Amino acid sequence: MTGVPPAVLPSMNQPLVPRILRPRRAAPADAVRPTRADINLEALRHNLRVVRKQAGAARVWAVLKADAYGHGAPAVARTLERDRRVDGFCVALLEEGVELREAGIVAPILLMGGHFGNAHEEVIARGLVPVVHDAEPIAAFARLVRAGIASGPIEVHLKIDTGMARLGVTMQALPALAARLAEYPEVRVRGLMTHLACAEDAADVETAEQIARFEEATALLRRHGVNLDVRHAASSAALLRGQALFDAVRPGISLFGVSPRLGGGAGEPITKDLKAVMRVRTEIIAVRVLETGAPVGYGATWRAPGPARIATLPMGYADGLSRQLGNRGHVLVRGKRAPIVGAVSMDMAMIDVTAVEGAAVGDEVVVLGPQEGPLGRDAISANELAERAGTIPWEILTSISRRVPRFYREP
Ligand SMILES: *Cc1c(COP(=O)(O)O)cnc(C)c1O
Repeated sequence: MTGVPPAVLPSMNQPLVPRILRPRRAAPADAVRPTRADINLEALRHNLRVVRKQAGAARVWAVLKADAYGHGAPAVARTLERDRRVDGFCVALLEEGVELREAGIVAPILLMGGHFGNAHEEVIARGLVPVVHDAEPIAAFARLVRAGIASGPIEVHLKIDTGMARLGVTMQALPALAARLAEYPEVRVRGLMTHLACAEDAADVETAEQIARFEEATALLRRHGVNLDVRHAASSAALLRGQALFDAVRPGISLFGVSPRLGGGAGEPITKDLKAVMRVRTEIIAVRVLETGAPVGYGATWRAPGPARIATLPMGYADGLSRQLGNRGHVLVRGKRAPIVGAVSMDMAMIDVTAVEGAAVGDEVVVLGPQEGPLGRDAISANELAERAGTIPWEILTSISRRVPRFYREP
């Protein structure tokens, strides 16, 4: 990506019609509820330093899709941009790129999702770099230049499907596409990217095959006179393992303090140097004493095995506390673990605080992150939540919903 700030991009003939959806999120100023996410900006910068070092000479493009993995894309982007160790950003959607531009971000932004509807003009007007995966958007961008709406050449990155069957030109379709590129001198393929399907696998068979195909695609495009400035393939797992670094890397989850695991799921984290950025906390809003056998929650899926103290939390699955954690997950109260009991409901969940001495209304409850209290200290990681909920930490972080206000902390 070239790093041309939007201010120096060609002005458009017509005023832009505001058409991009801007999701409203709960803001700290609105926050009455005690359920919130604290975002530790120093931990974010620490993780960027780790990633930067690991990337060596490669450029670092921070992946901030899905509202920066639930951390709030504008604030995260501003923090990273100010730090100067980041060279650009990647998002999935045009809407996400627009949100960053409106937040004042001037660094290059790559739109990885490859779908622009009929908003190609907006992509250029916002100074965003599109990823293309077939001839149709290349033709659409070329038409903008021919119509005098944008000045060319327009920089795009071409995505190659080297073995994931998700997005990208297939190796079979590449020769025909490469031959057609000369028809569109208004568009310049400056970047070549692919995505690795099995970067966490210790064996690396698929990764080696994918890299070989990527090199093949590179050679083919160069034979067609395509001058590639930058090639990129690595997300966090490959980056942390020092694989497929090429000219730029695209770390996402590692910036937020979660290391992918070797072999996936229950494997060892690839690095232990990262620090969790998000901490999700709430407070007990009610406590009741139950007799032996008394039921808790929808469907009475839990019954008190003896006299029990049950506390209610104002956080439910609509906030991102997975329903899978009912009768399975834990939270921290007064520095000690307490089990989630009964079904998690939309806005609330119940925990068993029978063994948490002194637990009372107003006590802080930590759902994700560390807590220190009179009864000890402990931490709940995104990995633990993922294992208990039968998912991956990426889904845990991105599930913390917009109903949970984010508070940015400089500890
Ligand atoms: C999400 C994504 C990344 C970042 O992946 P992490 O595992 O979170 O580091 C990089 N590249 C592409 C194409 C992606 O979709």
